[in-house]
Amino acid sequence: MKRFTVTGRNVGFRCLRCGTEATPLANGSVRNHCPACLWSLHVDVHPGDRASDCGAPLEPVAVRPHPRKGFVVVHRCTGCGAVRENRAAADDPVQPDDRDLLIRLTARPAP
Ligand SMILES: [Zn+2]
Ligand SMILES: [Zn+2]
Repeated sequence: MKRFTVTGRNVGFRCLRCGTEATPLANGSVRNHCPACLWSLHVDVHPGDRASDCGAPLEPVAVRPHPRKGFVVVHRCTGCGAVRENRAAADDPVQPDDRDLLIRLTARPAP
């Protein structure tokens, strides 16, 4: 049975962790983590495809500067332990990622 329908639409979501209503990114990209707490969900194999069956929360464990992407958030899945990197949305004009949280996580060593 198919659990997710891939529509290709860029929609927002409500964070399951803190309840924040996250809007799609102003630049048209899919927002893949909560701007307030940076938690995400393990629903993608590749960003935006919703092809993963895991579905467990992804914990933000570190943030690091990336030469082309600005900052990336390192997420670790609380269900299957997968580690993934997602571009941070620190420069989104509508709903940017929490800067203090990004800075705090930057100081932590990557897993
Ligand atoms: Zn949140
Ligand atoms: Zn997982």
